[in-house]
Amino acid sequence: MSVFDHPEFNDHEALHFFNDEATGLKAIIAVHSTALGPAAGGCRRWSYASDAEALTDALRLSRGMTYKNAVSELPFGGGKAVMLASDDAPKSAELFAAFGRAVDSLGGSYITAEDVGCSVDDMRAVQDQTQYVSGLPQSGQNAGGDPSPWTAFGVFLGIQAAVKVRLGKDSLDGLAVAVQGVGHVGAHLCKFLHEAGARLLVADVNGDNLKAVSSALPVEVVAPAEILYANVDVLAPCALGNILTSATIPKLKATVIAGAANNQLSTEGDGRRLTEREILYAPDYVINAGGIISVSREYYGGSSEDEVRADIEKIPQRLEAIFAEAAETGRPTNELADEYARRLIAAGRK
Ligand code: NAD
Repeated sequence: MSVFDHPEFNDHEALHFFNDEATGLKAIIAVHSTALGPAAGGCRRWSYASDAEALTDALRLSRGMTYKNAVSELPFGGGKAVMLASDDAPKSAELFAAFGRAVDSLGGSYITAEDVGCSVDDMRAVQDQTQYVSGLPQSGQNAGGDPSPWTAFGVFLGIQAAVKVRLGKDSLDGLAVAVQGVGHVGAHLCKFLHEAGARLLVADVNGDNLKAVSSALPVEVVAPAEILYANVDVLAPCALGNILTSATIPKLKATVIAGAANNQLSTEGDGRRLTEREILYAPDYVINAGGIISVSREYYGGSSEDEVRADIEKIPQRLEAIFAEAAETGRPTNELADEYARRLIAAGRK
């Protein structure tokens, strides 16, 4: 398996592979950049089809974190951990303790938190082994805890901004929104959208998560294979990445795509495909930064929830600036966001 000539290798600073026989932990920690601070990004625990797939995910997700942290003006570089889920390594406090020791061995160049497949409790087990962790239970008046409600809040504000630009509407009342994935972020997002009067279509491959949302809110459940192509105003991808491709884009009906999932575009060129179809795409790492904003405030300490909220309320402004430049230049929003992030990172290096 090649690394330095891997298509997703993007001048990553370091790649670390961990193997712990006692717990079965197999993990990759990718440090993409520390130009703007320690590399921060969550830990994803997923059942990958192959080691190669896990490596690709670590490389792509860590680069995305560098860009996300830069455009969100956080004192962080970008990194990501992926843990290979398997029957040989069942979820346990010992597994996350082993992961915590792995994080600690990097001496603070990488800071972890929860992502897909991990919870606040898992991060507590990590905390027993290392100080380089965030997304822990809230203590006192300090901001912190599960970042997903904050991510959902930022996505909700971003959807409002995108709807205003693309559909000319100040309200989500009566609009149809398809939410792909109703896990941590998707479920919170559904609540915000419902309160704003949106009509919800949801899909998930996890029956429990689907049941939790459909018993709490009036939603139309759609088959996972259909949700991307639902006849809606807004598509909010909140599951996994690589969903906007040359095969899926021609069949989309939504004219706004704005959701939490990382790496929604399969390739950079898919952003242009969306532009050509006049679909307004909110760049994933710009709109989904609410969680890392909370993680950052928690990690450095001394912040209130109001400060986290105020930071997240800047997400729509960032999106509006990108949307305005896209309208003026005809260029895809993802390219503009990437350029902006790269400028900030280059300035930080100097
Ligand atoms: P989660 O694991 O809690 O939820 C993801 C949900 O998507 C699960 O219910 C899963 O069953 C479902 N899913 C997976 N494949 C699916 C498919 N093909 N069709 C429909 N549903 C599918 O994860 P989360 O924390 O809610 O994160 C969701 C996405 O948002 C991820 O891409 C994550 O990287 C991104 N994100 C999360 C945060 C955060 O604060 N948790 C922050 C930024 C970005």
